[in-house]
Amino acid sequence: MSIKKINTKKEEIKEIEKQRKKIINLILDQSELIEGSLRESLMKCGKKGCRCEQEPIHPVTRLSRWENGKLINKLIRVADREGVRKLFNNYRKHKQAIYEG
Ligand SMILES: [Zn+2]
Repeated sequence: MSIKKINTKKEEIKEIEKQRKKIINLILDQSELIEGSLRESLMKCGKKGCRCEQEPIHPVTRLSRWENGKLINKLIRVADREGVRKLFNNYRKHKQAIYEG
C-alpha cells in the first residue's frame, strides 16, 4: 500500500514539474514571474449594441510579467483562462515548496 502511495506522489511531482515547464515555455518564456501577476478584470469587447457599451462585462485574465525591465500585461482569452490559472497555481505551489523545503 505505502509503495503505491509513494509512486502516486512521485507521479504527482512529475506531473507538476511537467506543467511548470509548460507554463514557463508557453506563457512566461524567459521572463520573471511577479507577485499577483494573474488578475481577473472586466473589459469591453467593442461590439456595437453589446451590453458592455455601458460598462465592461466581459471577464478577462491579465497576466503581468517583466520583460526586459518593463512590466508587460498580457490578456488571456476566456477559453484559456482555466488552464492558465491551473498551471499558474501549480507553479506557485511548486515554487513555494522549494523555498520552504
Ligand atoms: Zn461586449
